[in-house]
Amino acid sequence: CSGAPGRRGTPDSTMSLIVQKYGGTSVGSTDRIKNVAKRVAHYRREGHRIVVVVSAMSGETNRLLGLAKELSASPDPRELDVIAATGEQVTIGLLAIALKEMGIPAKSYTGGQVRVLTDSAYTKARILEIDEAAMRKDLDAGTVVVVAGFQGVDRDGSITTLGRGGSDTSAVALAAALKADECQIYTDVDGVYTTDPRIVPEARRLNSISFEEMLEMASLGSKVLQIRSVEFAGKYKVKLRVLSSFQDEGEGTLITVEEEKNMEQPIISGIAFNRDEAKLTMLGVPDKPGIAYQILGAIADANIDVDMIIQNVGHDGMTDLSFTVNRGEFAKATAILEDVKVKLGAREITGDNKICKVSAVGVGMRSHPGVASQMFRTLAEEGINIRMISTSEIKISVVIDDKYLELAVRALHKAFGLDTPA
Ligand code: ADP
Ligand code: ASP
Ligand code: MG
Repeated sequence: CSGAPGRRGTPDSTMSLIVQKYGGTSVGSTDRIKNVAKRVAHYRREGHRIVVVVSAMSGETNRLLGLAKELSASPDPRELDVIAATGEQVTIGLLAIALKEMGIPAKSYTGGQVRVLTDSAYTKARILEIDEAAMRKDLDAGTVVVVAGFQGVDRDGSITTLGRGGSDTSAVALAAALKADECQIYTDVDGVYTTDPRIVPEARRLNSISFEEMLEMASLGSKVLQIRSVEFAGKYKVKLRVLSSFQDEGEGTLITVEEEKNMEQPIISGIAFNRDEAKLTMLGVPDKPGIAYQILGAIADANIDVDMIIQNVGHDGMTDLSFTVNRGEFAKATAILEDVKVKLGAREITGDNKICKVSAVGVGMRSHPGVASQMFRTLAEEGINIRMISTSEIKISVVIDDKYLELAVRALHKAFGLDTPA
């Protein structure tokens, strides 16, 4: 990478305000940080005002959280945030130094130093407010502002983090607060693809995707953008683009409002998947009012998110209820159900944590019936059994055994005509 990118869909006017976010792989070594600095310097020299948001070096957040796990099976979330936030503190300092070496004035900020104010939901805090005054002063003076992604500070001054992948959200939130002309997310792929290119090599880059579809893709497991970053961008009308930090050319993928998309809308825009699912079933529950509330209320009280829910038609006064949760919360949810089972006099609890969810997403689905049946036929032809189904206006999701994940994603990608034309 020469670090001297050509124009790539950047706002035309000089003195545009651009927020650029670089993910873990893009800042994974000092050499890579040098390349990031070259790109930032290029934009700065063109006259743009630049705020850079960086992640920790790739693998670093996992390493840091792993250290805490060596000491405790359930570490205090407040302390986890204190630890995890250090990863980004290293990369902002390094990038600011690299920029200064190139003669570009730069200044690093932790989330707390900016004052990215969040609530106190440690490890998954939400941004409440951003103070842009100090950043603006630096930008006006021609300084590149380098901000630690993924972190903020609560009203008590405690360090918080925004959930895994949260630097995307930091970048979009800063872009919204500063009314930036564009927010560019630089990563290790050159845009948003029809599915994860690591699973399907034939996946195609999309020139654009609507906010609505991107939000579904992210919620259903495409981790190229954190869900909240897409929500934020939609809400505050931030111009959001995903680009490669390893290529100098290319327009990446622009996230657009739906009306801007052309009329030749494909029915399906992408296939998303999530491996982190587990399914729980309570069998033989008395079929009477309040059952779903008692079961799922207990799960919600423990702060466990429930995804799909199915209640069977009752017979002989009994019914079954199944639902899915994040795999990491499977054991906790099972323990809660054991208690509820006794209270309700239910027959049995079964669980399966070797499942996954595969989804087809597309706004074109609204006007095209038959997408579900095509999805079911494709899976049937591959001999893949569907365990649960859930639909909305613009997506169809199925739960299947996780050993079939790759087969299902490839087959659906092909069946919906998403493969690269030969
Ligand atoms: P970063 O560290 O830059 O934030 P991430 O690993 O969070 O990068 O996100 C980029 C990765 O997202 C890609 O390497 C790719 O494997 C994965 N990914 C999943 N779904 C998609 C998709 N639909 N399009 C592009 N990338 C995807
Ligand atoms: N470093 C954090 C993580 O690994 C945040 C991010 O990369 O966006 O989740
Ligand atoms: Mg990411």
